[in-house]
Amino acid sequence: MKRVYNFSAGPSILPLPVLEEAQKELTNYHDSGMSVMELSHRSGAFTEIITQAEALLRDLMQIPENYKVLFLQGGASQQFAMVPMNLFGENGKADYVNTGSWSKKAIKEAKKYGEVNVIASSEEDNYTFIPTLNKELFSSDADYVHITTNNTIEGTSIREFPDTGDIPLVADMSSNILSEPVDVSKFGIIYAGAQKNIAPAGLTLVIIREDLIGHASDMVPTMLDYKTHSETGSLHNTPPTFAIYIAKLVFEWLKNLGGLEAMKEINESKANLLYNYIEQSDFYASPVQKDSRSIMNIPFVIPNHDVDAEFVKEAKKEGLETLKGHRSVGGMRASIYNAMPLEGVEALVDFMKRFEEKHK
Ligand code: PMP
Repeated sequence: MKRVYNFSAGPSILPLPVLEEAQKELTNYHDSGMSVMELSHRSGAFTEIITQAEALLRDLMQIPENYKVLFLQGGASQQFAMVPMNLFGENGKADYVNTGSWSKKAIKEAKKYGEVNVIASSEEDNYTFIPTLNKELFSSDADYVHITTNNTIEGTSIREFPDTGDIPLVADMSSNILSEPVDVSKFGIIYAGAQKNIAPAGLTLVIIREDLIGHASDMVPTMLDYKTHSETGSLHNTPPTFAIYIAKLVFEWLKNLGGLEAMKEINESKANLLYNYIEQSDFYASPVQKDSRSIMNIPFVIPNHDVDAEFVKEAKKEGLETLKGHRSVGGMRASIYNAMPLEGVEALVDFMKRFEEKHK
């Protein structure tokens, strides 16, 4: 069976060398006589996996010493609740930037726990751009500021992170973590569901500055308190062991590729290839403002022609899968995460050219 180019927004494509390595050691991991899936999370072999995974991530992202790396579950959606539960202090106030459907869900959840000020939003314009985030917008007494660095559904991303002074900046980086270098020291918390650029679903990564741990009230469930996981090296209970193992392999793959600078270059060439084609075409169009474009999720539409379903169906026949846009945006969306090779985007552009010729 031939592998396809999977443009899914998540769970999404994983690097083939990672899958092959996992396949090779699936039934007998490093002469343990067991699969990683069967290893105790307290075993020496698994301790080595999780320790290496953290070390590799720290190296890739240049994570400063005063940050903890937590391997959790519950998805990014659980972080929508854990962030306010752990960070709301005496003020009980937070600033949120509303740049897409996922930001909106984070806002809705945070409102259960305190006062939420939406200090900037592009909702009225269908989230087609990132609002300017001046320092003056932020409340001086907020406990934190929350942003979504990449809007998976709408295809926008924050290219310049706001300066929030002493107020911790919390970022949902689910769909662009590890796609390019970021200065971790600018953030209080970075969180991400793993199922796009890290690993299979089931793992959630949290990178948190140490001084933000330990402020949850006694009412916060043990499992939702960052302190629980930070004090136990993410081993308070059984972590998603297999997903952590795949994350380790993905981090190794990224390192061998040359790290995040090299990844950024590759990602930019993939996105440019697709965007340059869309721009010169009068058949396809991008719904996103140019300065707000994501290099991970690229939505495009075919105005004046009712051929979206045909596009998706014909593309699938050529091994170009999962190109249907999100139901809230319509059209098509190509998610071109780290693991999507340049050849996948070349094949997509080639298909788009032929489809355009046929229909325009
Ligand atoms: N935030 C963003 C930006 C996302 O793309 C997603 C998932 N697509 C989520 C949050 C929700 O993640 P999860 O399914 O891991 O809860």
